[in-house]
Amino acid sequence: MSSTIERTDVVIVGAGFTGLSAALELKRAGIDFLVLEARDRVGGRAEARPNGLGELIDSGGQFLCQDMPELMALAKARGKTFVETYIEGEFITHPWMSAEEAERTYQVAMAIRERMNRIEPDDASIAGLTVATWLERQKDTADAKAAFRSMIEGLWCLALDKVPLWYLIDNDRRITNEVFELQYFLRETMQSLADDLAGDLAGRLRLGEAATRIERGPRGVRVISARGVIEARSALLALPPATAAKLDFAPALPAELAKALSVWESGSVIKILVRYASPFWRERDLCGMVMWRDQAGLFACDASTDADHAALIVFVGGPLALRWHPLDETALRAEVTARLVEALGPQAADILDFSARDWTHDRWSGGAYSDLIVDVTARDAERTILAGAPPVYIAASEVSPSFPGYVEGAIVAGRIAAGKIQSAIATSASGS
Ligand SMILES: Cc1cc2nc3c(=O)[nH]c(=O)nc-3n(C[C@H](O)[C@H](O)[C@H](O)COP(=O)(O)OP(=O)(O)OC[C@H]3O[C@@H](n4cnc5c(N)ncnc54)[C@H](O)[C@@H]3O)c2cc1C
Repeated sequence: MSSTIERTDVVIVGAGFTGLSAALELKRAGIDFLVLEARDRVGGRAEARPNGLGELIDSGGQFLCQDMPELMALAKARGKTFVETYIEGEFITHPWMSAEEAERTYQVAMAIRERMNRIEPDDASIAGLTVATWLERQKDTADAKAAFRSMIEGLWCLALDKVPLWYLIDNDRRITNEVFELQYFLRETMQSLADDLAGDLAGRLRLGEAATRIERGPRGVRVISARGVIEARSALLALPPATAAKLDFAPALPAELAKALSVWESGSVIKILVRYASPFWRERDLCGMVMWRDQAGLFACDASTDADHAALIVFVGGPLALRWHPLDETALRAEVTARLVEALGPQAADILDFSARDWTHDRWSGGAYSDLIVDVTARDAERTILAGAPPVYIAASEVSPSFPGYVEGAIVAGRIAAGKIQSAIATSASGS
């Protein structure tokens, strides 16, 4: 290990939107900090990569909507160009059903979801139940249950038999958008917004520097990386819970907090952008949105930036992503192309570029879209994580009071964590 020892007030580990938002709050408050980021870029689960045509595309978090106030305000303040997601025309289900039938199926799945969300998470009658067990007990038709399963596994990306019912209810109640959540995306990419925020941190951000060990002592914390040691009054681990759990803590974290970090599992997603010469589906009055009824967790939508840059995004979520994870690029492309052709016709095979990003078991974020609690008894895990082990604090989109699992949630979670650290520093200054 190198012998460098640096000092600052706060070390932030992770430069996703949570870490960046916390850093900017601390900067505003005049508190000294350093941000360590393991990857060679900021943004975490918001990521932009060039596709085979040299166009920069969002391979991670991308969409936002007007009901996400912090993210909307930030994107406007940074002068981003909003592209409205194309939704004119018919939504397709495959195997095919009529538009009326598809609408009815969607409505019954939503009715199950609303019924679920009316249950109080602390209701004793659901203690110990997973979403799958609860669903089995419902009197809905098999088709309605399959549509619900596909919707939930597509959104949360984990098998329903792993997810506690109280957790899904509590989580879903915090996702409060009334408009379509895929309403807009940013022409410059979501990650460009993270780059802009990082630009304001001049000199306080270290890329390619993973924290490996967190030592807590009477005078604060020591954060160890391959480059050296940073001593600080506090540390903020701006990491998804399952990723934070992998750090080496000395002394070990209090047992309750270590347990609270151990009950999460990362979802699995493969996100694919398929570029076409033209949005051929629009000519047939289709909006490009496809839900596969025979493949829970498979969903496509139009993500053309304009008619000259026609594209579909295919999301592969949950158990299906785990099944397709071992496929190589050629096999994955063949599989996805076959599904698109079945749903949208032979033109779907005339692909200009096929760019896939597999987030399953991602080294630095664990997976996508987020980590979920998978222990039915862990009702206090989020509260325990939010309390942290001062001077070590933990935050991520997952534990946000609004939009957990979204960029909006990360911005809010970062700001709240920075507020706590700021008050702790102010209290210790007034006491000393
Ligand atoms: C494919 C995909 C699609 C998505 N779609 C959307 C969408 O359309 N809209 C939306 O709002 N959200 C979407 N999300 C979710 C959204 O991107 C995340 O909720 C949000 O970006 C999480 O931010 P975060 O800062 O909490 O965590 P992260 O972004 O995971 O940030 C954690 C950071 O910590 C770093 N790190 C990890 N370990 C260490 C270490 N030891 N030392 C230093 N650094 C470390 C990581 O590299 C990472 O940069 C999507 C996510 C994915 C992957």
